[in-house]
Amino acid sequence: MTATIIDGKAHALALRTRIATQVASFRAAAGRAPGLAVVLVGEDAASAVYVRNKGKATRDAGMESFEHRLPVETDAATLLALVERLNADPAVDGILVQLPLPAHIDAQAVLLAIDPDKDVDGFHPVNAGRLAVGAEGFVPCTPLGCLMLLQDLHPQLAGMEAVVVGRSNIVGKPMAQLLLQQSCTVTIVHSRTREVADHVRRADIVVAAVGIAGFVRGDWIKPGATVIDVGINRTEAGLVGDVDFAAARAVAGAITPVPGGVGPMTIACLIRNTYLSACRREGVEAQR
Ligand code: NAD
Repeated sequence: MTATIIDGKAHALALRTRIATQVASFRAAAGRAPGLAVVLVGEDAASAVYVRNKGKATRDAGMESFEHRLPVETDAATLLALVERLNADPAVDGILVQLPLPAHIDAQAVLLAIDPDKDVDGFHPVNAGRLAVGAEGFVPCTPLGCLMLLQDLHPQLAGMEAVVVGRSNIVGKPMAQLLLQQSCTVTIVHSRTREVADHVRRADIVVAAVGIAGFVRGDWIKPGATVIDVGINRTEAGLVGDVDFAAARAVAGAITPVPGGVGPMTIACLIRNTYLSACRREGVEAQR
């Protein structure tokens, strides 16, 4: 058996196209475009690419992109003052501070300073809490994109056995919450789990967010399972995921490639969260 390759690029393009139409209606109703502010501190090459891509996606959707590039030596007080200005700016619906921040800045303090109602990354503890209790807030973009891919394949996720590999605040934990909300039976495995492979072998759905190239082996995959690979690892062979793609593909029912799987969905979900924020702030009904 060879797995269906889940085309994240195509899904993301469809989502972005849909949002662009919704943004056009929003502009007509509210008399302004939704706005996303992105803050980049320093010169990290990968971060600069992400920020450029986010700006382009924002503009492509008909939204305003406000980009703030600060030098690496920027102090915490200056960055916090900028966040406060953006919190108060009525043209800004979403604020994203690109991580990682330089080591001399306390990233947690900066994330806490963002107004939770403009926290389109969904990293603020208020939004983590809202997700945990099922209240309206912002869901982190990467797990939200993974859920959309899963729902497209499995309109009924209830009762499925899901294993999330990794427990980070930005991917593993919110992913587990989302799957639990869908009534999956969820297991989180992490660096201290005994017999990781045995847990993964039970899973109808595997989400890998570990940060280790090829960590999930093909013989861990239950035949027919759906495998979502969040990992982005730069190796001599190029970008690879956290799953041994060639081996897993021979066993799984469906699998995301790296690149071209989860990655494009992350940016599309950021655009979606910004649109949602603008609708909530202007009292305009958001379209699905
Ligand atoms: P992280 O380093 O914060 O977390 C990794 C998790 O893996 C930890 O919770 C840890 O417990 C677990 N882990 C480590 N070693 C393990 C082991 N031996 N067995 C089981 N679990 C183990 O990473 P993250 O931020 O969650 O990112 C994970 C991966 O996803 C990275 O490759 C990152 O680049 C990628 N990522 C991709 C996107 C995207 O848009 N596609 C977004 C965010 C992160």
